[in-house]
Amino acid sequence: MIPIAKPVMGEAEADAARRVILSGWITQGPEVAAFEKEFAEYVGAPHACAVSNCTTALHLALLVAGVKPGDEVITVSHSYIATANSIRYCGATPVFVDIEPDTFNIDPALIEPAITPKTRAILCVHQIGMPCDLARIVPIARKHGLPLIEDAACAIGSEIQWNGEWEKIGKPHGDVACFSFHPRKVISTGDGGMLTTKRAEWDAQFRLLRQHAMSVPDTVRHGSDQVIFESYPTVGFNYRMTDIQAAIGREQLRRLPEIIVDRRRLASRYAAMLQSVPGVSAPCEPSHLRSNWQSYCVRLPQHCEQIEVMQSLLDRQIGSRRAIMCAHREPAYDFLRLGAPLPHSEDVQDHCILLPIFPGLSDLQQRQVVRALTELCRPEPPEPSGALHASLAEQGAERAT
Ligand SMILES: *Cc1c(COP(=O)(O)O)cnc(C)c1O
Repeated sequence: MIPIAKPVMGEAEADAARRVILSGWITQGPEVAAFEKEFAEYVGAPHACAVSNCTTALHLALLVAGVKPGDEVITVSHSYIATANSIRYCGATPVFVDIEPDTFNIDPALIEPAITPKTRAILCVHQIGMPCDLARIVPIARKHGLPLIEDAACAIGSEIQWNGEWEKIGKPHGDVACFSFHPRKVISTGDGGMLTTKRAEWDAQFRLLRQHAMSVPDTVRHGSDQVIFESYPTVGFNYRMTDIQAAIGREQLRRLPEIIVDRRRLASRYAAMLQSVPGVSAPCEPSHLRSNWQSYCVRLPQHCEQIEVMQSLLDRQIGSRRAIMCAHREPAYDFLRLGAPLPHSEDVQDHCILLPIFPGLSDLQQRQVVRALTELCRPEPPEPSGALHASLAEQGAERAT
């Protein structure tokens, strides 16, 4: 079986977990602090705050950005449902705008028309690792005084060209970036998340809210030779990361540069091989963006049924997934009235699939995937001549009436 994805984990991660278990400090301690420091250095951010997953990271980012019940947040429907759900956790309403068909990311031209007096923030998504066009989105957010939150769940190690230099997603270019360490992402801690920001006061708020809004963290009380009583100035959450997860994350960070080189090599091989598959289009990568290729999303020819192609791949022991979902098509979002139709979002969901991509995918396996796709997406045979005659006869009949 060729799976769709495979986490890169080994002895280093197993040893790291063991080290923590035997250390006597299991949660939100020195390993979390070290992981935050190393992560911040990697993406070039002044502050990084570890949390339990990316959904909780998004929730905290929106809360600290000031999103309140009754507010609107502009985002895409075309994302994993956690993006839209995080807005609803704040009692706010997602306002969905469509994507660009080629990058699968929010269409910057549609943001401004969606702004109303109720708009409180913009939540853009670097979908499946491809960075959004931040050079166009950031000025819109600034012009309207709206915080820009980046859902970078899939975009660890992705880069954009910014003032002529390549910079990592998460610096961040908006106000906050939120990352995921779920096993489907590029590096994993089992579950886990990270918020990065340039704003020291926001970072302090994230730290407070992730641990029940406890005024004095455990680490401070533990290190003090005075008795300290903590207080709880507001309602916080339990969104902590454990030291076991953080220690694994540090080992994953060490592997990350190599993982990205590998994923980019696999993606360019797919792109080259798919040139000879009629009707199947490889994803594009604009010259000012560098994807980490968390997923590899191809468009099927119009005559192919997505589910049939996926089933036939599975029958050949090849894993695939439907392309990115649309939240507005789920029952949980039935209540929402769309401001505008989302044709590109729906089209990608219905006509694209994700192919296997992970370090360790061999040349042979990649050829097998492309060969299977070539067979399954053959152009339709021309209409049999009988049908052609019938349709000509029909046209004749129409002309006669
Ligand atoms: C995976 C994902 C999330 C959720 O991340 P978790 O860590 O599983 O909470 C949010 N947004 C996007 C775009 C994702 O792909």
